[in-house]
Amino acid sequence: MKRLLVAGNWKMYTDPAGAGNLASRLKGSLGSCGWADIAIFPPFTSLAAAVDAVRGSGIAVGGQNLYWENEGAYTGEISPSMLIKAGCTMALVGHSERRTHFNETDSMLNKKIKAALGAGLHPILCVGETLEQRESGITEQVIEKQLMADLDGIDEIEPIAIAYEPVWAIGTGKNATPEQASDIHKFTRQLIGRKWGEKAAAGIRILYGGSVKPDNAGALAEKADIDGFLVGGASLKADSFEAIARSFK
Ligand code: PEP
Repeated sequence: MKRLLVAGNWKMYTDPAGAGNLASRLKGSLGSCGWADIAIFPPFTSLAAAVDAVRGSGIAVGGQNLYWENEGAYTGEISPSMLIKAGCTMALVGHSERRTHFNETDSMLNKKIKAALGAGLHPILCVGETLEQRESGITEQVIEKQLMADLDGIDEIEPIAIAYEPVWAIGTGKNATPEQASDIHKFTRQLIGRKWGEKAAAGIRILYGGSVKPDNAGALAEKADIDGFLVGGASLKADSFEAIARSFK
């Protein structure tokens, strides 16, 4: 049976000491979580502390971003092999904050996904529409365009998880209703099925992200097509992240 995945995106928060403390606490509570895979995405400078803190547990650590070359004169960038050597097994690709603030395009994200897979990392690809796009009734077209471009030329999509993160729900306190999320998750699974086959569609994990909190996680987790969460703000406090992870229990 497909394992659920609950992932915490720590964004540009935590120094190494804080990251180590938070990760050790999660190791104690969720380190041998029987019902879901757990992953954390600290900032680059806190990766070593987080990796040390969760060592020996089932918690995976990932980078929030990566570049597609393995080394070279790319000041400020981090390569897939550097993430692997830092102890990461996962990477976020295409978070809306990267698309919006750093102008990451679908063609860049396609290279990042391929580079991550080539290095043996498990990417979480984030897709989602803006409020304007939702209000114009083009949410499905936006998701389809992002997915098809970001995953272009990729035959094996099993190692990838997709996070549906409506941009209007990220860090805003407004979350999609369970029905809104579930509709897009179903649509996304159908798209995957059409292009990669029914087995891939059934196996791929489609996470929801966007202001997930302990008090709204339960209703979202009940939806059959929601295979986990990508949590931002609420992943920075052990209590709330643990409560969100427990909503799938
Ligand atoms: C995120 O960073 O992916 C996210 C969903 O953030 P938040 O939970 O704070 O909306």
